[in-house]
Amino acid sequence: MGAVNGKDYINRLNQLRNEIWYDGEKVEGLLSEHPAFKGLLQSKAALYDLQHDPKIKEEMTFVSPVTGERIGLSYLQPKTKEDLTRRRKMIEHWARYSGGMMGRSPDYLNTVLMSFASSASYFTNKDYCFPNHLQAFYELARENDLSFTHTFVSPQVNRSPIYIENTDEPIAARVIKKNEKGLLIKGARLLATQGGLTDEVLVFNVGKFLFNEDEAFAFSIPSNTEGLKFICRDTFIGGPSSFNHPLSSRFEEMDSIVVFDNVLVPWNRVFYYNNAKAAEEFPFESSFHPFTKHQVVIRQIVKTEFILGLAELLIETIKISEYQHIQEKMSEIITGLETMRALLEKSENNAQLDEWGYMRPEIFPLQVAGNLFPAIYPRFTEILQLIGASGMITLPTENAFHSTIRSDLDLYLQGATKTAEDRVKIFRLAWDVTMSSFGTRQTQYERYFFGDPIRLSSELYKKYPKNDYVKAIHTFLDLK
Ligand SMILES: Cc1cc2nc3c(=O)[nH]c(=O)nc-3n(C[C@H](O)[C@H](O)[C@H](O)COP(=O)(O)OP(=O)(O)OC[C@H]3O[C@@H](n4cnc5c(N)ncnc54)[C@H](O)[C@@H]3O)c2cc1C
Repeated sequence: MGAVNGKDYINRLNQLRNEIWYDGEKVEGLLSEHPAFKGLLQSKAALYDLQHDPKIKEEMTFVSPVTGERIGLSYLQPKTKEDLTRRRKMIEHWARYSGGMMGRSPDYLNTVLMSFASSASYFTNKDYCFPNHLQAFYELARENDLSFTHTFVSPQVNRSPIYIENTDEPIAARVIKKNEKGLLIKGARLLATQGGLTDEVLVFNVGKFLFNEDEAFAFSIPSNTEGLKFICRDTFIGGPSSFNHPLSSRFEEMDSIVVFDNVLVPWNRVFYYNNAKAAEEFPFESSFHPFTKHQVVIRQIVKTEFILGLAELLIETIKISEYQHIQEKMSEIITGLETMRALLEKSENNAQLDEWGYMRPEIFPLQVAGNLFPAIYPRFTEILQLIGASGMITLPTENAFHSTIRSDLDLYLQGATKTAEDRVKIFRLAWDVTMSSFGTRQTQYERYFFGDPIRLSSELYKKYPKNDYVKAIHTFLDLK
């Protein structure tokens, strides 16, 4: 099949008939026509079409080692530094389409799966582990350009460090039975961004230290597997108009709870089970962090460029660039942008081949970026609000500009350098980035989507090599 285009993606998704629950009702009919999903699916389709855009096709795809067809470059396993650069360009193309606002453009999870497969050998000769299943599934996904959601986190019932679930009915998804066909899973995982809106659901353990062996499993199953349910939150789409809701009308990704109601996972889709040690170690031993964070940081850089451009446009529109505090605030965004770029470059420059022959970007700069961005992104949104002031509130709708009140709007809402209509467009975008339900989710997303920032910084502290610096102080003070 090779790299899909937008039409292929939508057709395949519509045929799946995934069990999605929205506002207390089971979604019937075509997903691509549902008001809560339509905008996102059109945007995703546009991303897939970029893979066939003659101008950038070479940068978005590569030749399959199996079929000779062109396949999505987000599946490319980097073996050289040039491969990392190729990956960077592809990620940038996709991120630029949404200004970095689509956390789950297809490259994110394709990269995750690629990273897992690149380290499949970790599972060799380990109990209840099937590296061959992981490798075969990666190839299937790569050759058919499958799309993914994922769910790595258990329900937020009790996060006490000493809590071990002990309920009659499983809450956190666990294996309740195994038979000759596969594993039977019951319980829930949350949350899954774009849950139900993809071909497959990837389930792994990441970032948790497990107590129950029956919660230690990894697999991927089609989203329409019997017993699999996706329960959506309320939509954050403000409305269909891209004038009124420039971001949410196009990029609202939806998040869902994933329920496994006695779901059978066939053996050929099981990557491991019943091995808590492997589940705990794999995310850190594998190339999951370096490859996935590489994708994440590139998207976040594009997002910061988008914020910078938007902030400057606000400033030009109402002529406030001469104020020193405005310059100081802009320099904060520029500092964030240049810092993220420097960290990315260092990670690529210092990339090294891992034990399985794949070119891993250096992890520490990526970890630093991963700790930095959740802190600076909320500040960027605050800066936009501080620059925009009441302009973030005086936001008449598209209809108002097509009504008899327009002449008043044209006069009173004009900007120094922009017509009223353009001025409102710009400010509506700033509002959708920072103040709408879509915008506040974006902030929460950047804080949490890759894990709890508190635990991520502990990880950096624990893994960062500090001995040489401690020794230097010993020497400096002539300590015994
Ligand atoms: C918008 C959004 C989209 C997401 N999309 C996905 C997705 O598609 N797939 C997916 O798998 N996940 C997704 N996530 C979930 C994400 O992985 C989690 O939010 C993240 O791992 C943190 O876990 P939690 O939310 O359960 O927080 P919790 O672990 O419940 O933490 C709650 C609070 O308790 C503190 N806390 C809890 N345990 C500890 C501890 N051991 N040490 C110190 N402090 C602790 C935390 O710091 C935090 O303040 C998404 C999250 C968001 C916000």
